[in-house]
Amino acid sequence: MTESDVPLGRFSGGPFRGRDGFMTYQEGLRSLPIYWELSTVVCVYADFRCWPDSPNERILEGRQLEMLQALRAWFSSLNIKSSVDAPANLVEDTVLCHGRDCTRMRLINQYYCSYHYDLSCLARDPVSPQPSNNRWRVP
Ligand SMILES: [Zn+2]
Repeated sequence: MTESDVPLGRFSGGPFRGRDGFMTYQEGLRSLPIYWELSTVVCVYADFRCWPDSPNERILEGRQLEMLQALRAWFSSLNIKSSVDAPANLVEDTVLCHGRDCTRMRLINQYYCSYHYDLSCLARDPVSPQPSNNRWRVP
């Protein structure tokens, strides 16, 4: 059985009040705590690289991206804006993405293509949260 055979899990947490807290991603018997901080949006520090109880077992990138999409859908269902939301404009520019060796076009008003933008939403260090609003937005 591979990761992709396992159905995606569920997110839970909130209400997103106060300064910060943790929400949870639960998949079968496994759970992943996700740190959040309240700013103008809910800033999420989503590290989907591995499960905390088995740090040597990497979660495949494709699965991490599926988890990101599920997280976006969950926030959207709650009508909550988050730091991992997809860019408002998914139209490609005529300029190459700034991602290393990437041959895709960047998105309008972004430095990155949608793939690299999504990767930028993942694997952020919960120990040293950074302001995240529009961090990849072109001034
Ligand atoms: Zn790219």
